[in-house]
Amino acid sequence: MRIGFIGLGVMGRPMAKNLLKAGYELHVYDVVPKGVEELVACGAIAEASNKDVAAKSEVVITMLPNSPHVKSVILGQNGVLEGRHDGMKIIDMSSIAPLTTKEVGKACAEVGVPMLESPVSGGEIGAINGTLALMCGGDKALLEELTPVLEAMAGTITYCGGLGAGNTTKLVNQHIIAVETAAVAEAFVMGAKAGVEPEVVYNAIKDGYAGSKVLDGKLAMAMDRNFKAGFRLDLHIKDLNNVLETGHALGAPMPLASLVMDEMRYMSAIGAGSEDSAAVMRYYERIAGVELTRAK
Ligand code: NAD
Repeated sequence: MRIGFIGLGVMGRPMAKNLLKAGYELHVYDVVPKGVEELVACGAIAEASNKDVAAKSEVVITMLPNSPHVKSVILGQNGVLEGRHDGMKIIDMSSIAPLTTKEVGKACAEVGVPMLESPVSGGEIGAINGTLALMCGGDKALLEELTPVLEAMAGTITYCGGLGAGNTTKLVNQHIIAVETAAVAEAFVMGAKAGVEPEVVYNAIKDGYAGSKVLDGKLAMAMDRNFKAGFRLDLHIKDLNNVLETGHALGAPMPLASLVMDEMRYMSAIGAGSEDSAAVMRYYERIAGVELTRAK
């Protein structure tokens, strides 16, 4: 099967490599040449535009930053729909606003192109290992048909409902990770101010009820003073923006998301936008004048 892959960033590159490893013919495009060059070195075929990728592929996968990118890549000039042909299908794996997913899916359906959404969780490491958790939305029969393709990148595949349900599920995930990271920072900074080593607290609580992957992953980054993304702070701000817009449109209360959003925006404003979203922990450290380092 010929697959197209658009968006060869932190996540897209390893996901595309796993499709190559699974034996698919892969046609790739990104506005930044670096990712394309890396994939071509692994056996992919470079295309000159998103339209060209679509023209050569039976299934087009997009892995882009946010809603406006997905809209322009699929619906825009020289975009995927301009390269459409009988039997072509789209899987958008980006994390975007559920409303945009519905809008783009409707525009695709109107010209006879079926679209599935499949945002992912699991980070760069999950993308490299092919163990991503997929949250799929759209036609269930389409998901069943495309499951072999998705399995090359996934550990788990969950059908969440119609178009928009996958990205709604992803927003729930992103909300919890953001608030939990802030909660870990606030609590551990209090502990450090009281003179108890972060590592001691961590070892004492990690296997209890407060234990979590966020606690393990984000606290380790703070203790090692390694905030290299990973998942960029600016992408988490993008997700929280989608959380807030979605929540407010539905009349759902969003006080915690609003609070952490402002903390993340502050950290981005002082230059941490390209670091991992764990950088929000430094917001708490700065106010308290401590760092959550390991014991010397
Ligand atoms: P990224 O910014 O590293 O990659 C996005 C890629 O899209 C870039 O290479 C960019 O050049 C390309 N792009 C942008 N506009 C384009 C266009 N018009 N045509 C072609 N290519 C274009 O982002 P990422 O970290 O790979 O994340 C991608 C998506 O996955 C985002 O929605 C993100 O929220 C989500 N996500 C990321 C992670 C993570 O840990 N990084 C984890 C889960 C989900």
